[in-house]
Amino acid sequence: MDRVRFYRDLGLTEFYRRPVDAALAAQLAAQPEAAQISQEDLPIPPRKPIPAPPQIADAVPAADRAAALQLIRDEIGECTRCPLHKGRNKLVFGDGDPAARLMFVGEGPGADEDAQGLPFVGKAGQLLNNMITAMGLKREEVYIANVVKCRPPGNRVPEQEEGATCTPFLFRQIDVVRPQVLFALGATAATWLLGARQPLVGLRGRVHSLRGAQLIVTYHPA
Ligand code: URA
Repeated sequence: MDRVRFYRDLGLTEFYRRPVDAALAAQLAAQPEAAQISQEDLPIPPRKPIPAPPQIADAVPAADRAAALQLIRDEIGECTRCPLHKGRNKLVFGDGDPAARLMFVGEGPGADEDAQGLPFVGKAGQLLNNMITAMGLKREEVYIANVVKCRPPGNRVPEQEEGATCTPFLFRQIDVVRPQVLFALGATAATWLLGARQPLVGLRGRVHSLRGAQLIVTYHPA
C-alpha cells in the first residue's frame, strides 16, 4: 500500500503488475500479511563482487554531448561482449536530451524496448512518462538508460557478468550527460549504480551522491 500511495503522490493513477516468480509468490502467500515484503525489497544475495566503476570523466560542453554519446554508441557497436547479445533484436542504448538535468536508469530492455531499440516504451514506459509529466517535464527533456542494453531472456534480472560488462558504458553516459539528479528505478539499478547489494527499502527516502549527481532510489515503474 505504501508504494501505491507513493505513486499517487507523484500523480500516477494507473498501475499494472509484472509477473512475479511463482515460488516466491507461493512463499509470500503463505506468510501473514504483516510479514510480507515485495520481491524488490528483498536483499539481493551476495554473489560475485560488483566491479569498481570507471573514474569520472572530464565534463563535456553541453553542445558536444550528443556527439560524445554517439562516440560511446559507436564503440559499443554490434556488441557481443556478453551472452545477452544472443537473444537481442535491437540494442537499447539510451534516449533523451544529452544535456538533461534529470536522468533515469532502469534495469534492462523488455520486449517492446528490444523491438524498438528505445528504453521504456512499453507499459513500464507509459508509467515512467506519467511520472515525468507529473514532475512538470517532457520525456524529451530527460535522459533515460538502463543497466544493461540488451534484453535479458524472459525479462529476468541481469546476471553479474552482464551488468559488469555493460555498466561501464552506462557510467560513461552518465558522465557525458552530467545530470543534476539521477533516479535509480528499482533494486537492480540501485545495486549497479551504488555498487552494493542492499534491499531497496533501506535506500529509498534519502539523497545519495553519485558522480557529481544527487541520486534518488525509487521503485521501478513496473
Ligand atoms: N524496464 C526497464 O527497466 N527498462 C526498460 O527500458 C523497460 C522496462
